[in-house]
Amino acid sequence: MSNENIFPKLEIPQTIAAGPGPGNTDARVLAAFSNAGLADHMHADVLRGMIECKKMLRDVWGTSNIHTFGVAGTGWSGLDMMFSGVQPGDKVVMFVNGTFSGIDALSARMKAATAEEMAQNSLNPEASSVITINVPHGQSVSGDIIEKALSEHKPKWAAMAHWETGSGRINDIEGFSAACEKYGVLGLVDAVSSLGVSNFRIDDYPGIHGWASCPQKGICCLPVTYAPVSFSDRFIETVLASGARSFVHHPVMEARHWGIVEGKDVEKGTYHRTHSAYAIAAFHEALRITLAQGLAARSAEYEYHENALRSAVEAMGCEVTSNMTSLVVLNLPKDLAGREMELVQHCRAQNFGIWPTLSEPVQVRIGILNLLTRESVTEIVDRFAQAIRDLGGNIDDAFVKEALNSSYNVAVAAE
Ligand SMILES: *Cc1c(COP(=O)(O)O)cnc(C)c1O
Repeated sequence: MSNENIFPKLEIPQTIAAGPGPGNTDARVLAAFSNAGLADHMHADVLRGMIECKKMLRDVWGTSNIHTFGVAGTGWSGLDMMFSGVQPGDKVVMFVNGTFSGIDALSARMKAATAEEMAQNSLNPEASSVITINVPHGQSVSGDIIEKALSEHKPKWAAMAHWETGSGRINDIEGFSAACEKYGVLGLVDAVSSLGVSNFRIDDYPGIHGWASCPQKGICCLPVTYAPVSFSDRFIETVLASGARSFVHHPVMEARHWGIVEGKDVEKGTYHRTHSAYAIAAFHEALRITLAQGLAARSAEYEYHENALRSAVEAMGCEVTSNMTSLVVLNLPKDLAGREMELVQHCRAQNFGIWPTLSEPVQVRIGILNLLTRESVTEIVDRFAQAIRDLGGNIDDAFVKEALNSSYNVAVAAE
């Protein structure tokens, strides 16, 4: 008998993942994933792998925070754990300057809403204890904005994105940390886009007590693995005192499987949930790659290639409004203004995976996650130029080539 719900084998094409994420997973990570043996989550080598991951992650992130480990899932899984300390009625200040910090604010409202507030609008609750400071799309959250809001509201918690991937803007975590320290606020940072790309150390920001990132961007470990998180002792004490309404995303309980028990490293993790040997092997390899390259070298590579891509798209007449180094966010040349979504769809239909912004105004986002070679950037530039021509735009080829080459040659000459 035939069953019409048995579909043909799923084939997913190879694309150029030139968006804000997911990034291109390293071949070594995929090999580690598929070559791991089948071993249960309490096998000695799996538990050892988790302990090694935890130690490598502390190095990658520059922290002595004991509670540094991975949360199974995606970026939002780690962020959910980070916000799990927020209790109904807690006063929170949220800094929002784009799509992702906007969702972070929704998460905070869902945690801080009282039962009555939740029942009013359960999918998008208003929470009177959450104050949202909106910074327009395309602008960064500055130290002045943060200082002013925290001095006025003196909340228990404050949160923002480090790198707001929606608009490609870097926010001031130094100013954030300083203001949180000054006013005794527990600072929380969405570091989903910055970890593994930007050269920063958690321990340089003592006002920030919770950090959450993801597997799929700078860590280049897409086969859904682990969202890195790190919490200070004060964060953990706060959670132990007032609780977290989650078993699976509980910062203290999940840490146990990574060999962190009662605030100390122990030799062997204890069961929290069934971890995958494949995922652990992949995460382990991704962290080894990151440490071997070194964050300073990797972040310099991003700067170098982002600069080349930026020069080339500017030579096409585009206006770049971002300052992150893993992607450029741009407006098309004047004669194509307003056709950003059409251009992105045109590119995506050809498996050239660039992205629009998800909040207004619609802009184009082109990313270079793990595409750090002159060949890759040149291919992106060529394909983007072709898409502009396909829409009827004019491009001075020689001028674009010269911008790209001189960006690369100047950099090479300076070495
Ligand atoms: C990508 C991203 C997220 C969401 O991560 P997922 O892996 O899709 O869950 C959250 N915050 C920021 C800043 C991001 O860039």
